[in-house]
Amino acid sequence: MISKKMKPLVNNNSVIRQMFEEGQKMAAEFGAENVFDFSLGNPNVPAPKEVNEAIIDIVTNDNPVKVHGYMSNMGFPETRKAVADSLNKRFGTEFDLNNIIMTVGAGSAINVILKTMLDPGDEVICLAPYFVEYGNYIRNYDGIPVVITANPEGNFMPRFDELREKITPNTKALIINNPNNPTGVVYPEAVIKELASILNDKQREYGTVIYLISDEPYRELAYGNVEVPFLTKYYANTIVGYSFSKSMSLPGERIGYIVIPKESDGAEEFTEAATIANRISGSVNAPSLMQLVIERCIDAKCEVEYYERNGRTLYDALTKMGFSCVEPQGAFYLWMKSPVEDEKAFVDKAKEFNILMVPGSSFAGPGYVRLSYCVSYEQIKRSLPKFEELAKIYF
Ligand code: PLP
Repeated sequence: MISKKMKPLVNNNSVIRQMFEEGQKMAAEFGAENVFDFSLGNPNVPAPKEVNEAIIDIVTNDNPVKVHGYMSNMGFPETRKAVADSLNKRFGTEFDLNNIIMTVGAGSAINVILKTMLDPGDEVICLAPYFVEYGNYIRNYDGIPVVITANPEGNFMPRFDELREKITPNTKALIINNPNNPTGVVYPEAVIKELASILNDKQREYGTVIYLISDEPYRELAYGNVEVPFLTKYYANTIVGYSFSKSMSLPGERIGYIVIPKESDGAEEFTEAATIANRISGSVNAPSLMQLVIERCIDAKCEVEYYERNGRTLYDALTKMGFSCVEPQGAFYLWMKSPVEDEKAFVDKAKEFNILMVPGSSFAGPGYVRLSYCVSYEQIKRSLPKFEELAKIYF
């Protein structure tokens, strides 16, 4: 018999995962080239060639006992130093290896961070629309998700008035994801400054510590001249969760890290606790081979131009057909307004054309759908006549 806590999770099993499985079934039935699956954020650009080269070199030439063994729960010191050095070089920060904990991707990083900071009943603010798993992650540690409603009129920037009202003495953290899944927008510096100012005011007012959890799997995926602010520079109590799943196309390898800046509240104790949380979550440590790979490939180039072209092509074509979309600035998601109020009905209609997309309700963003365009450019081109047929039903 499963636990009471798991029951609702089983009943509401991730819509995205269900879509993914449906996509596989449809591909078997109609042929993969006739199914236009925009459901899952699984990068189709291969990992940089340096990654495979490093794997071969490491398993051929390095000491196998080290390569496959346990290490400190924080990760290899050399890997953590490589991460800190790379961040310092790129963002002008002053981290050293003691500020970095290697993790099993961003999902695990966020869980470790929340486990480290949450007491039952603590509130964590999420800015809608948001990554569907945040609610589950927060509830894992008996925290309470508090949602700031979506702001479609303001290009999905945070609603600051609502934020000021919803921060309470029980607020422990706010999770921000920039560039954003699912909207594809990037919160600019002015927005980050305002956010930091509100959090600082509220910390002073309540005499509490409010952490800003910066979930950054898409940090490298920003288009053109769009800058993604590095948040530890704007707000002292920022804790970063990063992932190589998207930037290096390594989602199945499960590798990422946490940054705990020394100026954040109780940094030393927090780091010690997070290291233990990493261990007792069952992960123990991040995968050792991947840590060694990251140490060598930390600055390998991410193919952001590929996603930019996909996003631009889809955005231009769909808006021309009459759909209303948020202009993509980063990540690899297109956030599109459903032409009918019930976006689930629209998603079902699209399925009749073998187009799979995710209803916005799964991200606390009803009335919209998310198209994940980390697919081949050819799939995008092939899908356009089908979108055309779909558009004719509504416009
Ligand atoms: N955070 C966001 C916003 C994501 O979109 C994802 C994955 O899609 C994750 C976290 C989890 O990433 P990882 O594969 O590193 O666990």
